[in-house]
Amino acid sequence: MRAIESPSHDRLQRALASGWVDLAWLVFAAANLVAMALVPQWETVPFHFIWVSLTIVYGYRVWASFQTALVLTAVVLSTGVLLTYDVFHQGELGDELTEVPLMASMFLAMVWHAQRRVSAMEDLRRVSDANLRLLRREREFVQDASHELRTPITVALGHAELIERGGGDPERAEDARIVIDELLRLRRLADRLLLLATIEDPEFLARSSVDVTELLAAALQRWAPIDRRWRLGPVEPATVDGDPDRLGLALDALVENAVKHTRPSDEIRLGSRRGGDQVTITVADSGAGIPADRLATVFERFTRLDQARTRDRGGVGLGLAIVQAIARAHGGTVQVRSTPGAGSVFELALPLGPTPNGQAGASRNVLASPRLQEDGLRG
Ligand code: ADP
Repeated sequence: MRAIESPSHDRLQRALASGWVDLAWLVFAAANLVAMALVPQWETVPFHFIWVSLTIVYGYRVWASFQTALVLTAVVLSTGVLLTYDVFHQGELGDELTEVPLMASMFLAMVWHAQRRVSAMEDLRRVSDANLRLLRREREFVQDASHELRTPITVALGHAELIERGGGDPERAEDARIVIDELLRLRRLADRLLLLATIEDPEFLARSSVDVTELLAAALQRWAPIDRRWRLGPVEPATVDGDPDRLGLALDALVENAVKHTRPSDEIRLGSRRGGDQVTITVADSGAGIPADRLATVFERFTRLDQARTRDRGGVGLGLAIVQAIARAHGGTVQVRSTPGAGSVFELALPLGPTPNGQAGASRNVLASPRLQEDGLRG
């Protein structure tokens, strides 16, 4: 008999949904029919065994209507014939016969509910399949659109730069500068949208063993030329199983925000600490901070707390959404603490990865350069 559906994927249900269970039940039901025929004074026990076992088997594997009707008819006829025979030949009580239609109607009620459940689940699956298709199409659209935008933006950028460098009219050069800034913002938006749209792709992460200290040192080296009081530490060596480029990107987004919301006299501190089975990378600044009522939404897409200022600084409201997406893709999290006027601390927690020598998450000390070993790099 063919099962219409076996919705759960657990092993027990798969076993119960296999043809062997049908066969086992057939043998069990036949044995009980034989018992009913051989021991008429106890026949209600095997009679009920047949119905109960049928209900259990059916509950796990809702048969198609035709098979269900076939089995039900076979059970009603065989048990009915045996009970009728005993009423007439063995002097059994006639009201035992009423058990057959009663059990059959109970079974039919169960079949009705089971069929309703199956069709509800099929509807649900259809809806979620449709939603998945819609999501995939939306992602593909964003990927294609942001990809397509890059070429005209690059061409326009080239022309605007030519006009700016053309000399002559300073007003024209100033206008060109504004166009360039807006085009750069647009290119950034397209790049970030493309990144967010590819985050679900299986090949989004190219994993390898990433040394957290190296990651921090590289980020610091990239950003140190910007005039801030840069600090490194405390740094607890650790490695994670992750994508160094994506993690570098997340770290850059956090550092870039820290730069945007601080002045040259402010401090920006990068560090890491290990705790349990994870390492937490911190980017702390002593800048403007974030109001308490906005903390919960800063990781949402297109969140910009101060529209005018962030626009000024090239922000498109996707930086923290990207950091969160990268953290999640690594099985980690990102959190923020902030005091308005005193600064913010962003914490990127990532699961520790195995190290080549099997030591959990520890890494060699890469702060070999005396410049990086210092607590302060600048200021
Ligand atoms: P954007 O690309 O516009 O910077 P983000 O997603 O990176 O967008 O940041 C979202 C919002 O959180 C921004 O409005 C920004 O002002 C605020 N924010 C992020 N990091 C900091 C920080 N270190 N200090 C103060 N505000 C911050």
